[in-house]
Amino acid sequence: MGVIEHEIGHALGLWHEQSRPDALGYVTIERDFILPSYISDFLQRDDEIDTLGIPYDLGSVMHYGSTAFSVDQKSKTVVTRDSLYQQTIGQREKLSFYDVATINTAYCKDECKTEKTKCEYGGYMRPSKCSECLCPDGLGGERCEKNEEPRSGFFVVCSLYSLLLPEAECGGVISLTDEWTTVESPNYPDPGYEADQKCSWLLKSPKGKRVEIEFIEDFSFLCTSTCVDFVELKISDDLRNTGFRFCCYDKPEISFVSQTDTAIVIFRSQLSADIGFKIQIRSTDAEARTTIAPTIITTTSESTVLGYRNPYFSVAPITVDTPNVWADWGEWSQCSRTCGGGRRQEFGTCNLKACPVDKHCAKLLSNNRLCNGKVCTKNDISISSCDAPQCCPPFQNVDGMCQSDQDAQHDELWLSI
Ligand SMILES: [Zn+2]
Repeated sequence: MGVIEHEIGHALGLWHEQSRPDALGYVTIERDFILPSYISDFLQRDDEIDTLGIPYDLGSVMHYGSTAFSVDQKSKTVVTRDSLYQQTIGQREKLSFYDVATINTAYCKDECKTEKTKCEYGGYMRPSKCSECLCPDGLGGERCEKNEEPRSGFFVVCSLYSLLLPEAECGGVISLTDEWTTVESPNYPDPGYEADQKCSWLLKSPKGKRVEIEFIEDFSFLCTSTCVDFVELKISDDLRNTGFRFCCYDKPEISFVSQTDTAIVIFRSQLSADIGFKIQIRSTDAEARTTIAPTIITTTSESTVLGYRNPYFSVAPITVDTPNVWADWGEWSQCSRTCGGGRRQEFGTCNLKACPVDKHCAKLLSNNRLCNGKVCTKNDISISSCDAPQCCPPFQNVDGMCQSDQDAQHDELWLSI
């Protein structure tokens, strides 16, 4: 559907999002990896594009994905400046809120002008029916004052039953306190979510406070270079714009703090069934934390270290003068898995005993497997069987022990959508 909307978008005068004059503030273009005849699609059109005052949207249906027109179909041609957005770009599900707003501004800006808006959180009056609000993704209700109604693929398919059965119970408006509370995707973690579900949560802290969000326990979504099944965090001061979308198997390890007293969490599954996510949330006085610090250079008297902390030097690193500095040294992180082959920091392996057969194994789709109750990852032939002891790729089961001679790689499932 989004592909059609993308093409109609062109017909209505929309350019590719990465062609906007301000694009290089949000993405970098890797020209060396672009098929030469497509380079013009990645150029910024300073004179030809009028943004109509609408902010850059990394979740626009007009935005190219990470590997668009890549020479080897693997190398990234579009790299988001904030790495948390890398799997957000390239979505082709539907027009984003700002895509629709751009078209409405261009063609219908004089509609509803005389009416006083009642729409909250950046919603606006629908030009074709001024009594209705067009709400940012994740919001709904008469005035965009609450979460969007959930959807469940099962009930949509069974139209007769949909009259008899309640909607999927997920999503809501949550008023936060200093105590942690939790939110999780439908049927987390077992049997997990199904295809074509959507749930949204509107999280509200008391005035003057912010929303703190941490992912906990298992995390697993269909792994694609642009997330099609995902959890999205909207934690900036612009709730109309698309947030960070997370998928695949690596749980985001940062503790997020929203910029304002309000945040939105959206869960969406289009294609698969999987474990999903769980977060803990609370209100906080902490400073906003909406991104991870970009790679910086640190030097020591013995070595220059690019981009990561090197544990082998006893001399404390001296940070080169930049706005972002490393925090103090922490403890070694725990082994990432209890069996099946895990990693500790960037280096070294741990817990190399193959995982016993797990009775939940066969329930997981998208080729995920469970190792001792934890998600064992990646699409790999070595985890295709549920009735044998398992190792998690890149580890291989050799006589009950997991061995690896290569670094962990992200083997993504390539989908042409
Ligand atoms: Zn196009």
